[in-house]
Amino acid sequence: MSEPTSEGTRVEISELVASKVLDVPDFPKPGIVFKDLMPLFADGPAFAATIDAIVAEHGVDSFDVVAGIEARGFVIAGAIAYTTGKGVVPVRKAGKLPRATVAASYALEYGEAILEVHADAFMAGERVLVVDDVLATGGTAAATMDLVERAGGQVSGFSVLLELAFLEGRSRIAPRPVHALLTA
Ligand code: AMP
Repeated sequence: MSEPTSEGTRVEISELVASKVLDVPDFPKPGIVFKDLMPLFADGPAFAATIDAIVAEHGVDSFDVVAGIEARGFVIAGAIAYTTGKGVVPVRKAGKLPRATVAASYALEYGEAILEVHADAFMAGERVLVVDDVLATGGTAAATMDLVERAGGQVSGFSVLLELAFLEGRSRIAPRPVHALLTA
């Protein structure tokens, strides 16, 4: 599971993700093509292969906890956490967490939003693997990384299933690397 990923395997995983994503035009508003990854989540072997590929990319010893971004990031984070024996921290939309939080507002491809994490979510210096389903403009990921650091963690890696390269989300996160199973 933590063996380095070969180029052949990368291509296979990339093709697997591509085969399991549905394009939904004009959702949630006109002009946006929503990338629906539910078919990937619903396919047990395909989902397991993508989780294993993310773990192999980073290495099981490179992180202490997994942070998943609401809501589809929770699915990915929970699976990585379980298979590696690590904990999971949900990064939530505003108003959902019951205790003291740190918050960041950010612009989305289709709107604006606020993300929060519990202020005590991370131990000082804890290494945090951040995961989500789609990287679009990068605002969500940048806000999440900001939250992780303000809450005392350190971002050790960032993975998405799908990167929409034309939106240049990487530039919002640079110089941090982005690991995407599929870049479209
Ligand atoms: P962004 O902040 O623009 O990178 O947006 C990324 C976040 O919004 C992720 O949590 C995605 O789930 C969601 N998202 C943004 N654009 C899309 C899209 N075209 N298809 C699916 N999800 C998207």
